[in-house]
Amino acid sequence: MAGGTDELVHEERPSPNFDARSLPISMVVLHYTEMKPVEAALARLTDPKAKVSAHYLITEEGRVIRLVPEDKRAWHAGASYWRGIPDVNSASIGIELDHPGHARENGGYRPFAEAQIAALIPLLARIVRAYDIPRANVVGHSDVAPMRKIDPGELFPWERLAEYRLCLPRPQCLAAGNPFPNEGSFYLALERFGYDITDQNKAVEAFERRWRPERITGVPDGEVAAILWQLLLDRDQGRTR
Ligand SMILES: [Zn+2]
Repeated sequence: MAGGTDELVHEERPSPNFDARSLPISMVVLHYTEMKPVEAALARLTDPKAKVSAHYLITEEGRVIRLVPEDKRAWHAGASYWRGIPDVNSASIGIELDHPGHARENGGYRPFAEAQIAALIPLLARIVRAYDIPRANVVGHSDVAPMRKIDPGELFPWERLAEYRLCLPRPQCLAAGNPFPNEGSFYLALERFGYDITDQNKAVEAFERRWRPERITGVPDGEVAAILWQLLLDRDQGRTR
């Protein structure tokens, strides 16, 4: 494990739910727990019968709890895919955010706690630097499992992280109109950017949740196409490391 991590970790709750990595670390996947209270989430993430885990859990108060060592493969992403990688767990560090999620019985979806984001930023900065993770590979669970997952959701403050160069910012200068000649080329580009497009509408929904969270339709329009176009253009021109 990279050194110098302990000042960012407040508590160790070792989980038995991990195995060996088969790929080098090249991604970070962010999640919400969709559970209340945090002790319930911790119990599940350390229960051998549940067979789920993450490397870190950050409470709403900003406590960083380590569950699985970074050099091990934690079980957070499930069946997932990103940029040609079908075993996202092997390639990623998983961070769970203590949060009630979209579940109505938990009180409904709400913004993430400021203390939690303030704790996430230095932890993520340390991880991104330690493994030289490209900004395009700091993603949400919904980005790598668009058919099954919607976390961390449309209220996650990606732009805050982008200010610290910890993920890509939303492109600002967009081409006028739809830059793709047809729908087929749009979906090919969406796949090239990283998404599993097996279910096209779900893939567009996930893309919108991440890049245009104020309007999620599942149907590509000119603005969505222009955002994707600009993201790929920036990446091809090497502006997005
Ligand atoms: Zn998740």
